Amino acid sequence: MNFEVKMLKTDVLIIGGGTAGCFAAVTIAEKAPNVSVLIAEKANIKRSGCLAAGVNALNAYITEGETPETYLQYVKEDYENIVREDLVYTMALRLNEVTKKIEDMGLVILKDSNGKYLARGKRNIKINGENIKPILAKAVESKKNIRVLNHVNIIDYIVKGSKVIGAHGFSINSNVFYIIIAKAVICATGGAAGLYRPNNPGFSRHKMWYPPFNVGSGYAMGIRAGCEMTSYEVRFIALRCKDTLAPTGTIAQEVKAEFINSKGEYYEKRYGRPTTYNRVFSTVEEMKAGRGPCYLKTVGISKEDEQRLIKAYLHMAPSQTLKWIDSGRGPSVENVEIEGSEPYIVGGHSASGYWVDTKRQTTLKGLFAAGDVVGGCPHKYVTGCFAEAEIAANSALKYIKDKEFETIDISSIEQKLNEVQRFFTNTSPLYTTEELEEAMQKVMDVYAGGISTGYAYNLKGLQVAKERIDELFTLAQRLRAEDTYQLMKIYELIDRLYVCKVLLHHLEARKETRWRAFQEFVDYPYKDDENFLKYVNSRFENGQVKIIFRSLVKKDEVYEHKD
Ligand SMILES: Cc1cc2nc3c(=O)[nH]c(=O)nc-3n(C[C@H](O)[C@H](O)[C@H](O)COP(=O)(O)OP(=O)(O)OC[C@H]3O[C@@H](n4cnc5c(N)ncnc54)[C@H](O)[C@@H]3O)c2cc1C
Repeated sequence: MNFEVKMLKTDVLIIGGGTAGCFAAVTIAEKAPNVSVLIAEKANIKRSGCLAAGVNALNAYITEGETPETYLQYVKEDYENIVREDLVYTMALRLNEVTKKIEDMGLVILKDSNGKYLARGKRNIKINGENIKPILAKAVESKKNIRVLNHVNIIDYIVKGSKVIGAHGFSINSNVFYIIIAKAVICATGGAAGLYRPNNPGFSRHKMWYPPFNVGSGYAMGIRAGCEMTSYEVRFIALRCKDTLAPTGTIAQEVKAEFINSKGEYYEKRYGRPTTYNRVFSTVEEMKAGRGPCYLKTVGISKEDEQRLIKAYLHMAPSQTLKWIDSGRGPSVENVEIEGSEPYIVGGHSASGYWVDTKRQTTLKGLFAAGDVVGGCPHKYVTGCFAEAEIAANSALKYIKDKEFETIDISSIEQKLNEVQRFFTNTSPLYTTEELEEAMQKVMDVYAGGISTGYAYNLKGLQVAKERIDELFTLAQRLRAEDTYQLMKIYELIDRLYVCKVLLHHLEARKETRWRAFQEFVDYPYKDDENFLKYVNSRFENGQVKIIFRSLVKKDEVYEHKD
């Protein structure tokens, strides 16, 4: 492959044009119309990332009677106190303001007869959100100082000393290699799916809860560049409708459906507080005890409620609606069977990701992060990603003031190009990318707490997994690409392997069990507040994952990176 090399310059580079990326770009464009912004997106910003298919609620909103303080309290309780209070609180302070902003962009938020947003529970508001991503994309396109590069896969940062000064990437549908120089970079590439063997392996393996195209590239780039990462061991497992993997929360909240086992027993309360992780754990335990399958009890709901559910799922998970319609058995006559997904690394739901300061700067200067890629701040969801994007955008704007473009070392570009070219010239690959991907997912499933072990893992298994993942790294270097699409698949695999490697070290380092199912360490089955009321962080140094323990950061602290 002969690449055409293009060098671009922009004041701010945003990697990933999803929820946070688009919102950050619009924030900068509105505040500083003379600042140039470039979004590099591997898909097309009109329908990329988590919002591609739409959502039907904004899950993070401060409703009447609630406050940013109560939101923080809820997040702390749900995640057993291992959250960055400064991040959650500064996010919560902005939730309602960013909601107004997306409404002004054109999102329909449902209201009651008094004009108040229709709440679903304490923190959710209902929307007509099928078109939320095209709305965001339109807002981006309306700004003259934002340039969008769709179908460009970013593979690594350009680092000078301890500063990020741009990124490398390639076009997925032409032979262009990009060198993008920027005064500041915002990473907004979302979380990591496809690390573990999914519920539907083989032909249907891309049918998963999280977008299969979010492979953790932002994490991997940060890991390779030596950024500090946090809380990878706080994996996220989604409790979903069986087979369709549609959300269960909508059913639970809309018609107050409760969990029952095959004997019709309500089991949730047997397992302690109804936290996000406990709902998954209790369902797994019921299955293990032979009382599965488990269900959301919907039989007996009214026909009106049934219609509401059918409509709600049509907006966000049409496969569930099709299942009801196709089988002729809607939720009023048949309970909805549920199951846990495979584990993901996703900072917007749980706590894994970049270790950032309160301003959302990572441990490398000039590199900011927002959205699911940022750790320490669970229950962010759409509006939390917007809030974080706003903070990162404001911080990046401050950072670039009076900054000039850095010069770039040509030999480092040549080195990167050679690394990429090698995948076109490799002659004897032992396996295909797909085969190695399956092997990685099986290793993680069997030895690192996937679905097949009920999410539990032990020390011995983690050690085996580490060895196997290292072997896969070696095999991946021999892969061959025929075109840039296949090249992207190779990089996706390599990025996932980096995330797996760091994840395995985090799982090993937290020698307790704090979030059942999410982090279920068989050798250390109890919560250990005395030793583990702290963050497990890591940095990749000289090919090794170095674990760092850090003390908890409180609500009113302004956290700055010092060491
Ligand atoms: C199925 C599902 C349902 C959800 N439902 C709700 C809901 O109802 N309400 C709610 O509030 N929240 C919901 N959430 C959560 C919410 O959607 C996410 O937290 C949020 O959208 C994440 O935003 P993000 O910007 O971090 O990631 P994304 O929006 O996924 O953006 C990441 C972007 O980065 C791009 N990218 C990735 N790698 C690269 C690369 N190497 N180079 C260039 N680009 C790259 C991706 O293509 C993508 O466009 C849901 C999430 C999921 C997965």
